[in-house]
Amino acid sequence: MLELSYYMPVKICFGYAAVERNSHLLKNYGTRTAIITGSLSAAKSGALSDIVAAINKNGQTFQIFSGVKNDPPIENVMQMASEINLFKPDYLIAIGGGSVIDAAKAIALLLTNSFKEEILWQKDFIKPLPLIAIPTTAGTGSEVTPYAILTDNKLKTKRSVSSEEIYPKVAFCDPFYTESMAKELTINTAVDALSHLLEGFFAKRANNISDLYALKGLEFWSEGAPGLFRGEMSKNERESLMAASLFGGLTIAKTGTTMVHALGYSLTYDYKIPHGKANGLLLNAYLDFMLKTLPEKTKQALKTLGYQKITEFQDDFKQLFSEKLKLSTREIAFYVEKALKTSNVVNTPGKVSAFVLADIIERSLL
Ligand code: NAP
Ligand code: ZN
Repeated sequence: MLELSYYMPVKICFGYAAVERNSHLLKNYGTRTAIITGSLSAAKSGALSDIVAAINKNGQTFQIFSGVKNDPPIENVMQMASEINLFKPDYLIAIGGGSVIDAAKAIALLLTNSFKEEILWQKDFIKPLPLIAIPTTAGTGSEVTPYAILTDNKLKTKRSVSSEEIYPKVAFCDPFYTESMAKELTINTAVDALSHLLEGFFAKRANNISDLYALKGLEFWSEGAPGLFRGEMSKNERESLMAASLFGGLTIAKTGTTMVHALGYSLTYDYKIPHGKANGLLLNAYLDFMLKTLPEKTKQALKTLGYQKITEFQDDFKQLFSEKLKLSTREIAFYVEKALKTSNVVNTPGKVSAFVLADIIERSLL
């Protein structure tokens, strides 16, 4: 019997000058807006001046709040929420990579509820403030997902706030904003998008609808990938990767992620390896496992990426980066145990034993 579900409440405006062409949409959410950014990229990408022009055109009031950290720690989010609360915004605009968009999702929730951390992990809360998301990486797809990934220093891990209430209202995806990314950031974030597309395609929670997004996203990714291997991106390639990132978000919004993300979070937390790279280091070994577990789907994904054989893909992919870590058997056992407790591993098809996870880490990192 066929049962399908898919929910996507985000209004997506994709393409060059997306903000300028759709500035009227901001009027739907009030007159006072807090613009949330990281450090420099909101201005550097050109997104900040575009949004300020749109707000001014609408006769709205704004204040800029900078300072979201990468892989935002909960304390950082709490601190920014109290500062923004003094301004009493009607709605929020997040400009940045996944870190800023995720922090803004959590801030939106804290602003309408008590300023207590516990609210982030509860299911019962007052609706968050409306959020407009403007990604400057291509990337996380966070502009269309119901997740906010925060760093929990008490639990020494990354944790996901997950609720259909935290979807942004509007996503302005302008590929121009990704042109200011340096080569390494472009590769790391593109590999995160690839990881979402592959993990989402293979996930237990995948269905016919999410598969459509995953396959189309893999097609976009293969159009953008030559620039990653050449080391310089054309305009068209940047546009394709922005679309791949969006489609990755549309996929994992339904499917969630799997074992790669579960293991990758520890590499980011303990070794400060950027999120996309942490996933990417594990992808080749993960694909070997998927070829055994879901051979037809794995071949279909590889074919969509333009590869006949898994080894051809793996040889190409190895060129993007490599990293050797000195991990003891005890450390590996610790990461495996941590990952085994996650819902991401439960969402991975096949028999994901401690041995399988340890083997993936060993073949990827040692
Ligand atoms: P990021 O952590 O948001 O940003 C990394 C760095 O890139 C920052 O220093 C940022 O600078 C800079 N940057 C961003 N855009 C730039 C641009 N256009 N030009 C130059 N520099 C730029 O990176 P990310 O990979 O996009 O996000 C990673 C986070 O998202 C992780 O915490 C991950 O767990 C999370 N994530 C969330 C989801 C979800 O569904 N919610 C999915 C996947 C990943 P500034 O500080 O100046 O902005
Ligand atoms: Zn990711």
